[in-house]
Amino acid sequence: MVYPEDNRTWQILQAARKGGYAVGGFCVYNVEGVLAVIKAAERCRSPAIIQLFPWSMHFQGPAFVKYVADVAHAAKVPVAVHLDHCLQPTDADLALTCAFDSIMVDGSMFEEEENIRYVKSIVERATERNITIEAELGRMEGGEDGIPFLELEQVLTKPQDAARFVRETGTHFLAPSFGNVHGPYGPGGAEAYWQLDRLESIHKEVGVEVPLVLHGTHPLSDELVHASMQRGMVKINQNRNVRLEYHKYVEDNCASKELTALQTEGVEVYSHEIERMMGVFGSAGKA
Ligand SMILES: [Zn+2]
Repeated sequence: MVYPEDNRTWQILQAARKGGYAVGGFCVYNVEGVLAVIKAAERCRSPAIIQLFPWSMHFQGPAFVKYVADVAHAAKVPVAVHLDHCLQPTDADLALTCAFDSIMVDGSMFEEEENIRYVKSIVERATERNITIEAELGRMEGGEDGIPFLELEQVLTKPQDAARFVRETGTHFLAPSFGNVHGPYGPGGAEAYWQLDRLESIHKEVGVEVPLVLHGTHPLSDELVHASMQRGMVKINQNRNVRLEYHKYVEDNCASKELTALQTEGVEVYSHEIERMMGVFGSAGKA
């Protein structure tokens, strides 16, 4: 594998892996979300990854991706821009022309061999553009805002298949399925669903140099976050759990405040939640 040393997401995740901490991949939908991640990262001296969904490429357009990359790359700390859950091959084509540092190619609707062929072809094209790729092996259940709820059964990642998948596709980061679901979790919480032994085996089989990515974090106890970090999780996706307070703030204040105040103060509330997670991940103070 040729290591993409000058790719921003790669640099952030390799530094985290070597430093023994994790970095949040924060899914955002609007300018307030983008600014909240950057503010939190700068305040905490933490690296960060801003994540958009394909929805943003269509609703706000590639110019918005360019804006996000411009402000992220101008931050005082390393901030990368990532596309989460790119399900449609035509969206992958479009994403490769946008200003992303990395893309998650979700081929989980394909059978394994088809998934390998598909991801490998995207990795080859992405490498030419200095974009790194995250891929999922197995399939996670559930949906979240930005990804469609697919009526497909969960398939857990087999550790030996994961090693072969990484080797054959050349994917830079791997999102395994070990009982994690796109939340919210049912009774008993994530503790009742996760198979930490399986995650540990996957980490051993694919090798320590391959950063693992955690999906399905709504909600998680801090203890479970740390248990996953001890088993190879270096990028930890965050969506609803750091966004709910912001929603509440907007709901409580939208009738009484001007839009300028609503947005400025909204960013503060949003970034406060993100800062807390940067402390949990141990990324605070590392940039
Ligand atoms: Zn996900």
